[in-house]
Formats: sequence, structure tokens, C-alpha cells
Amino acid sequence: MTVPVTDPHPHDAGGDQRSYRDLIADCVHCGFCLPACPTYNSWGEEMDSPRGRIDLMRGIDDGVIPLDSVVAGHIDACLGCMGCVTACPSGVRYDLLIEATRAKIEEELPRDPADGAFRNFVFALFPYPGRLRALAPFLAFATKLGLPRIAAGPLGKLLPARLRQLATMAPPVSLVQTFASLPARTPARGERRARVALVAGCVQRAFFPGVNAATLRVLAAEGCEVIVPPGQGCCGALSLHSGRLDEAKRFAQALIARFERKQVDAIIINAAGCGSTLKEYGELFAGDPAWAARGAAFAAKVQDISEYLAALEPRAPRAPLSLRVAYHDACHLAHAQRVREQPRSLLRTIPELQLLEIPSGDQCCGSAGTYNLFQPESAHEIGSRKVDNVQSVAPDMLASANPGCTLQIQSILRERGATLRAAHPIELLDASICGTSLP
Ligand code: SF4
Ligand code: SF4
Repeated sequence: MTVPVTDPHPHDAGGDQRSYRDLIADCVHCGFCLPACPTYNSWGEEMDSPRGRIDLMRGIDDGVIPLDSVVAGHIDACLGCMGCVTACPSGVRYDLLIEATRAKIEEELPRDPADGAFRNFVFALFPYPGRLRALAPFLAFATKLGLPRIAAGPLGKLLPARLRQLATMAPPVSLVQTFASLPARTPARGERRARVALVAGCVQRAFFPGVNAATLRVLAAEGCEVIVPPGQGCCGALSLHSGRLDEAKRFAQALIARFERKQVDAIIINAAGCGSTLKEYGELFAGDPAWAARGAAFAAKVQDISEYLAALEPRAPRAPLSLRVAYHDACHLAHAQRVREQPRSLLRTIPELQLLEIPSGDQCCGSAGTYNLFQPESAHEIGSRKVDNVQSVAPDMLASANPGCTLQIQSILRERGATLRAAHPIELLDASICGTSLP
């Protein structure tokens, strides 16, 4: 089997392009990745571990294992959390392997009609901020009626699992904020230190607009002028992580075109899942003469908001926030981008804030982009372990840099009849620097 992994994805360790087969051959079967894998921890099944999935990929490539629904089930059950990538001492690029294998499944294996229809619905909705916004009034009404709480309770068990998952995760929406547009330019306060551009995201823009607003205020307070290029669409993250490679490329090309003529020092993103894909644009277009340089130039400027601010000498005074805050490592920040210390160090700049470490914090919460929509039972099992660990440190608040993680953790807490306020780390900084109320 030849999967065109060599075209979109050069192996960045050597800077060269390598075949799918070579990437598979990097695995030496040591098993160090197994304890890092949430699905292996759930079921103890080799085929649901990174090593087992790589063996399946090898078998498919050798033609000794048919690509059928059973094999696809083991690949679909992978969260794409990249816990195995950071655990692997041999540097196996499981991230590239899973993306290429999923693209092959999408191309070659017809989905069961109900599964296919649900997938089409998800991909016709989530990568489109305008469509998500159109949904906001219904979500606001549903939240008023207590739908997420009802769906999380015993009555919700009557619903099909995927529908129940969608209902329990309905975010609390503020219509005023959702329909407010971000300013095209926010000037720096005081002497300007940099000029940056913000990627506004899809779910972030529609359902967590307060995070973008906080990002603009904090950057301005720290001396950065911020521009928000108009007409931004999806970055392609959801499509790329689900094997919809052509769709991901179309989204990426449109976004690059919106940003590339802006004279900025950095491109800032505050959603972990989007950030890891934006940083991959160089790999995504490697081998494409028309887009390789444009993708690489864009990717070189991308920084997570915590990465960017942590590298700046703090300038804005911080007021105390007397809170016990549990910081949740989003997988696409900690594993995919290796950004772990920066959000913590930023939170430590807030006087009186007590930072708590969540036990087994490097394990995924089960959200994983669209995973909790497509694999609700597995996501729930994995998410329940995460919530046990969050509750064990008895925080006043949860800080999470990914909207999907926040929704997943809060939906399981709701099911337990518990509540925990959650904020993006930038919202905590905003509260400390600008005096804004916390969510
Ligand atoms: S992926 Fe890495 S850690 Fe896992 S078995 Fe292979 S070489 Fe070992
Ligand atoms: S990406 Fe996560 S779920 Fe998938 S094999 Fe690696 S550790 Fe396991």
C-alpha cells in the first residue's frame, strides 16, 4: 500500500520526506507508549494501543490485513491525543501515521449510512462559524430550559448516545457576545512592543467569544497592537484530524490568503487544537509548489497566546485573584505543541492565585476534537477518569486552553450534579490585569 504521506508530510526530525512505510518502521515495539495511551488504559487491548495500531497499519500496507470495519474501528477509537508521541523514545511520528491512515479510510472504506450521515452533519456545521452562530439562539433557549442538565440526567439515557453527547455539551451562550464582532484593530496600550494578528477560531468565536475579547485586552495591555483579519474561516483542524485531507487543505489555503499580506510579528491563536494544525501548515503543503512556501511562512509565525506572552517581559500590573486553579493540559497544546510550562508561568504571575496540578494530567480528557461526538462511550469513560482527578484536588476553578476540553469536563461534572467554573488562562490574566469579571 502506498499512502501519500510523503507528499503532505516531510519527517521534520530530518527535514526530509519519508514514506509511510519508513515512518512505521521507526517503531521498535518497546511498548513505552502503552501507559500513555488512554484507550489502552481503558480496555487493555493491544489493537487499541499505539503499538497495536501501528501493527495494523503495517499489516494493511503489506496487504496481509484487510482494511475493513473492524480495523477501522481500532483506528477510529484513537483519540489522536498524541500522548504516545511525547512518550515514544524512538521519535515515532504517530501523528503523521494516524492522519494518513484516516485519510485512507475516508477514501476507501464506505461508512455505514447512519454513521456517514452523522459525520456529514458534524462537518457541515462545526468548521463554519456563521452556521455555529446561527445555532446560538437555539442553544441559548435550550440552556434556559435546562436541556444540558436534563440530557445529563436519567432522562437523557433514553436518547441515542451521540445525540445525548451533543445535548450535554451545549455551551452556555451569551447572544450579545456571540453576535458582537471583534475590532479589526486594537491599539497597544503605552509604547508599542509588537504588532500581531489573531486567528479567531470557529467554536471559540461562536461559543466562547469572551476568550477572544480577553486575548485582545491582555495583548493590548502588554503593549501589542492586534489586528483581526476579516473573513476568517476554519483552520482545517477538525477535517485534518479526521482524515478529510482535501477539505483541510481548502480551509488552510483560504486562511493563509487572509493573513499572508499582513505585516505582523506573530500570528496568535488561543485554541490548542487549532494551534497545532496552524503550526503544521508547512508539512501539510510540503511537496506542493504553489503552497509549500506560503504554508511554511504562515506556520513559522504561529504562536499559542501563552507561548507568546510568556516570552514577553510582563508590563501590565496584576491584581490579586485569590483562587485555587487547576490547570488542565489540553493534548494539542501539551503533546502536539509541547507547550506546558508557559501557561503555568503566566498564571503564576497573578498574585495570590494558587496553581494546582491535576493527577495524571498528561492523559486526555476524551474530548479530542470531534472524538466525543463520534465515540461517546469511550470519551465518557476517559473523561470520567479526568473528572475524578480534577475533583480530587478540589479547585475553585478549572483553567483550560481548549474549548472542547472545557465542554467535555463540564458536561461530566454536570452529570454528577457538580459544577466547577472554568476559564481560559487568558481570561484569568484578563481578570487580573483589566479587572474583567470571570465567567
Ligand atoms: S510507538 Fe514508540 S514507544 Fe510505542 S512501541 Fe513503538 S517505538 Fe515503542
Ligand atoms: S494518539 Fe492517544 S489514543 Fe491514539 S494511540 Fe496515541 S496515545 Fe493512544
